[in-house]
Amino acid sequence: MSVELITLGTAAGPAFRGPENGISSALVVGDAFYMVDFGMGCSRAAHEAGLRGKDLAAGFVTHLHSDHVVELPGFLLWNWGNPVDGFTTPVSVLGPGKDATRPAGETLSGTRELVSHALQAFSYDIDIRVHDEARPDLASLLHTVDLDTPAHGSPEAARPFDVYEDDRVKVTGILVEHPPVRPALAFRFDTDAGSVVFSGDTAECDSMAVLASGADVLVHEAVNLDFYAGKGFAPEFLNHQRISHTPPEGAGRVASAAGVGRLVLSHLAGRADPAWWGSRAASTFDGPIDVAVSGQRFGVGRPVLARA
Ligand SMILES: [Zn+2]
Repeated sequence: MSVELITLGTAAGPAFRGPENGISSALVVGDAFYMVDFGMGCSRAAHEAGLRGKDLAAGFVTHLHSDHVVELPGFLLWNWGNPVDGFTTPVSVLGPGKDATRPAGETLSGTRELVSHALQAFSYDIDIRVHDEARPDLASLLHTVDLDTPAHGSPEAARPFDVYEDDRVKVTGILVEHPPVRPALAFRFDTDAGSVVFSGDTAECDSMAVLASGADVLVHEAVNLDFYAGKGFAPEFLNHQRISHTPPEGAGRVASAAGVGRLVLSHLAGRADPAWWGSRAASTFDGPIDVAVSGQRFGVGRPVLARA
């Protein structure tokens, strides 16, 4: 079975600081694909990459910052039903549950409520299309799961846990450090042909190396702290970037510790030349490094011919 990674969008947000789409990746495994995060522009990027909703098996959300989920409703609405070559059979959407560490956490939406509230917000359109276009009921096709994650700081939090499995992939997750967002997750996809790990948003942390151990490809976030420091942003904002994200040297250290075959930098926060990102990561990782752009394709495990 062929496996291909497509970095549909590589930008952090929520802001437009360059031409790249918001953070989103697809993993194509045989004739099915899996989405990881749904940043701004992911629906068009997926379409232009040749991905069609009828082949969507599951979507995964690393955490609930808006730059990772803002287009989840749009992606579902643009990929649902026969008229758009969309899905007509059940699709899983899995992500973090409510944040139990926040005082008002129970009143704030986890992944299930994010989806259910979106369906409610678009209920008029959905009802019209079910009756006017003979589309299947969207809600009944979506199997949305708030993942049961270990408590932050518990011994179990340092170990991978099962997330999802079908006949093509086994997905595991681990808690990562993206304060104050909890839970924040990284995901690992293991297939017959190879393995790909997505960091989501995280500071440099040991858990990433645990999850990514021996993986073929590590897709890791990176931040250019100097970019933000030079913009005159508030100290609180700069502190968030420092304690919640990873400089490229840190992504390289994680890749080295995990012994991965390739490091793909994505979710690039703050602008810099590709050579800036790449050289800094290369100072701590000897393997191949890519500074990903939107729509870039990577064969996993063995070469995969690019599709038109
Ligand atoms: Zn984030």
